[in-house]
Amino acid sequence: MSDLGSLPGQMRSGWIEVIAGVMFSGKSEELIRRVRRAIIARKKVQVFKSHLDDRYSGALTVVSHDGRSVEAEPVDASLQIAQRISPLVDVVAIDEAQFLDAGVVELATALATRGIRVIVAGTETDFRGEPFGAMPQLMAVAEIVDKLHAICVICGGAASRNQRLLGGKPARYDSPTIMVGGHESYEARCRHCHQVPRRDDEQVPLL
Ligand code: ADP
Ligand code: ZN
Repeated sequence: MSDLGSLPGQMRSGWIEVIAGVMFSGKSEELIRRVRRAIIARKKVQVFKSHLDDRYSGALTVVSHDGRSVEAEPVDASLQIAQRISPLVDVVAIDEAQFLDAGVVELATALATRGIRVIVAGTETDFRGEPFGAMPQLMAVAEIVDKLHAICVICGGAASRNQRLLGGKPARYDSPTIMVGGHESYEARCRHCHQVPRRDDEQVPLL
């Protein structure tokens, strides 16, 4: 993983790192790893996460699917992050950034300009396989982007898509982007095993 290793030695402090990828691709694990190393380096770190994360259980933590965790402050808007930034902070990490408003791009940019290392993790495509929230913009303005993959549960290949299942069946294209309190479940799948049925089951035209 690139982390700081790929940065030129003389790079001035203050930049944006994005950890993108599908669910189960290890974004939270990677965010936790970078945060732990920053803490060992005696940096002042603040971790935020969207409260919409379905793994949020009342405890103020970022929890990876393998059970590792770090403390985090739950937020539901980029403004709340801006209001809670400590004047002495060196590193700001934000998990589940796809659920935050577009203001997170301006916020991350302002923090990086001020000399702060900003680590943003999130899934950059929704269940349809289309760009999700502010993630595409964050990936564009970041100095470093890592796009992680999970294992496709159908074919064992590299998974790049979030498969939403409703009642065990692939969710249709017109299902809402964010389901609150729904009974949906997700699987990691590759492009070819990913299924998003349309109402009329038409083929997407090439032109
Ligand atoms: P993310 O934040 O991207 O959702 P996590 O860091 O929370 O990912 O979890 C990654 C972990 O999920 C893996 O290390 C592995 O233990 C577990 N896992 C469960 N299903 C899969 C899958 N289909 N492919 C890869 N890892 C999986
Ligand atoms: Zn597959």
